[in-house]
Amino acid sequence: MAPMIAFTAESLSTPITTIARPVLIVEDGTIVRLESRHGVELPSGVDLVSFNDCTIAPGFIDIHIHGSAGYDVMQADQSARSHFEHFLARHGVTSYYPTTVTAPLDITLTALERLADAMESAEGRGGGRPLGVHLEGPFLSHARRGVHSPEDLLSPTIVMFDKFWQAARGHIRVMTIAPELDGASDVIAEATRRGVCVSIGHSDATLEFARRGVAVGARHATHTFILGEVLTNENVTADVIADGFHVAPTVIDLLFKAKGPDNIVLITDAISAAGMPDGNYKLGLLEVDVQGGKCVRDGRLAGSALIMDRAVQNVMNFAKCDLQHALRAATANPARVVGAQKKGVLEPGADADFVVLTAEGEVRATVINGTLLQ
Ligand SMILES: [Zn+2]
Repeated sequence: MAPMIAFTAESLSTPITTIARPVLIVEDGTIVRLESRHGVELPSGVDLVSFNDCTIAPGFIDIHIHGSAGYDVMQADQSARSHFEHFLARHGVTSYYPTTVTAPLDITLTALERLADAMESAEGRGGGRPLGVHLEGPFLSHARRGVHSPEDLLSPTIVMFDKFWQAARGHIRVMTIAPELDGASDVIAEATRRGVCVSIGHSDATLEFARRGVAVGARHATHTFILGEVLTNENVTADVIADGFHVAPTVIDLLFKAKGPDNIVLITDAISAAGMPDGNYKLGLLEVDVQGGKCVRDGRLAGSALIMDRAVQNVMNFAKCDLQHALRAATANPARVVGAQKKGVLEPGADADFVVLTAEGEVRATVINGTLLQ
């Protein structure tokens, strides 16, 4: 048995409510008690770690990330993965969903096998943990493919989806798909049945197709600012890359107002360039040029160099929301959308994954599975 540890700070955001002067007691990586410090007697022999004037919040969860710190989740050499996961943790990200980009079939299948290995060996690496694969492509619209390679896009079929599923050994948790493609409805329904969060994206869908996608199971929308359905259907959550390049700050403000703070999910869509100087970087097999933090290929945006702690700070500025509402979009909302149990909220029984923030949203410390990262 690991010893109990108690943590305290100025405040704690669950992030549904705020607790002033909290005490959070952790045992074996799980939160066993959480209450206001006032009048609480700590069990004898319990160490108290104090973060003084800071706020404790759930660790950030990034459900759409291709890489950071020079590492790409699809690259063959995985020796930099641990460095990448520690980079994430230093920026408050305790869980992430490595996201594939459209590539030739054999390369995608091999990448999925490696990512399954990464999920199954995550314990002990100490950084942010991969919880499931996000399959972005190849079931995307030609018209809205962005930088995804056109020759590698595929028509959705259950047989093909199952190939990916087997390669990833069942670890696919999110899939982006264009609902207007032939066969998409069947694949959306099957993926939903297997517990995958199906997200509408890279789509040229009319309202009718968007509605059909939602009717058979889609619950989330990727990179979607065009669909009235996303803004008005309360069963659909929306994600946003709050870097100021993909969507204007005023549109982020609008999106928060239209969807409310419980239905927005912050993602980074970060590529290997995040946390690195300007230059040339890889996104899967694609070369991407990064200038002034903007990631571009052939004149199109190709992912971002955003990091989640910055996304939270940007949203506080762009949408003028307080820390707690910005936090929900990076913690409780993504956890709910992808069905990550015991993540994204701080309460007894939840995993002790949390971040320590200043009032401005700067990360001071990160705790994963009850362990304070040095
Ligand atoms: Zn992406």
